[in-house]
Amino acid sequence: PGNQNQLNLAIVGHVDSGKSTLSGRLLHLLGRISKKEMHKNEKEAKEKGKGSFTYAWALDESSEERERGITMTVGIAYFNSKKYHVVLLDSPGHKDFVPNMISGATQADAAVLVVDASMGSFEAGMNGNGFGQTKEHAQLIRSFGVEQLIVAINKMDLVDYKEERFDSIKVKLGSFLRSCGFKESCITWIPISAMGNQNLVTAPSDAYLSSWYRGSCLLDAIDLLQPPLRDVSKPLRLPICDVTKLHTLGFIAVSGKVEAGVVQNGSQVLLMPSGEIATIRSIERNSSPCNAASAGDNVGISLHGVDQIHLIPGGVLCHPDYPVSVARRLELKILVLDIKMPIIIGSQVELHIHHAKEAARVVKIISELDQKTGKVSKGAPRVLKSKQSAIVEVNLERPVCVEEFSRCKALGRAFLRSAGNTIAVGIVTRVFPLYI
Ligand code: GDP
Repeated sequence: PGNQNQLNLAIVGHVDSGKSTLSGRLLHLLGRISKKEMHKNEKEAKEKGKGSFTYAWALDESSEERERGITMTVGIAYFNSKKYHVVLLDSPGHKDFVPNMISGATQADAAVLVVDASMGSFEAGMNGNGFGQTKEHAQLIRSFGVEQLIVAINKMDLVDYKEERFDSIKVKLGSFLRSCGFKESCITWIPISAMGNQNLVTAPSDAYLSSWYRGSCLLDAIDLLQPPLRDVSKPLRLPICDVTKLHTLGFIAVSGKVEAGVVQNGSQVLLMPSGEIATIRSIERNSSPCNAASAGDNVGISLHGVDQIHLIPGGVLCHPDYPVSVARRLELKILVLDIKMPIIIGSQVELHIHHAKEAARVVKIISELDQKTGKVSKGAPRVLKSKQSAIVEVNLERPVCVEEFSRCKALGRAFLRSAGNTIAVGIVTRVFPLYI
């Protein structure tokens, strides 16, 4: 399938609501996990005393990001629906879910919020004293710009597929979701049983459930989501991920994902932050040559006319008339992860933004954001501890190519790291450009 049909789907929800079971089921039903893999995973999971995490193991094994160890751990798995190449952003089997979830959320085009329908469990997911991850996750994904939500009301088998239970959850959670800023028309409610395979990729086989539920199954609901806007009409942005020097042919190739715009063979591009003009000699997409590539495509590109020294991961190929902004000072909205040392003004961190990595210093803590409402709380805290959310300003040792998250997600997502650990994740809310 073409990349224009890719849909990044985050699966979020309270611990034990059934996210891993659901993801695994979908992958299996849609032919992404073989029987053999399933059995292998099942055996391993049992040996570790985690029988119910069979599917979680399957997901975990394909976690490419973890291997790279650069960004956060997000299990990456995908399947194809009629309309989309669906990439699942999940954090299976891990209980420290929020940090992983948030990384998924910044990449998500839409989300499935899984809730446990069983008596007492739904209520636990909604309560405020630290365990209410249903609420927490809903707020976080909304604050990262996700607008489309499918609420999968799971474990319906445990409540005898009762319509009243489904309705009552819908009423309670619905008013909360609206208060987070989700539009009624952008929420789809589906009763499912991930374990019992009800309403996942086909209409329910359970006679009682199908007697009252007339909506789509989960897979069809995914197809009904609005396609994500790929910024094809915007100026070219291609952050360089890797650089290979093809000595024998005397030119250099770079690889990366086209995040916005288009690139064409023979055309000129501007390499930032160095400001050199290069000419595209060849483009490769999915290992075969092509004449042009557009937003969403992963490509390898060979260039000439630029000094090798300036071709580095973190550089960005741009439309010559519309350079990406370059900045040494940024305002970020961050969520602090579990950290031992609080973040203070003056804290030295390493800022990761697309493929750039730069030493940085926290120079201002502008305000704290209320966990419940996401609103700015009065006064600026002097230190930031685990789980706090805040607006901060950072100064970078050297300039990086960056854009505000609202303009280009891929160039506006940031991670703060220190001593080999990710200490905060966030988005760029303001860029103080060096040159305009
Ligand atoms: P996660 O923490 O959200 O990933 O949840 P898991 O997928 O690990 O599931 C938590 C527990 O709920 C496991 O014991 C699953 O077997 C169980 N579970 C998941 N889905 C269903 C379901 O539809 N019905 C029932 N009865 N149990 C389920």
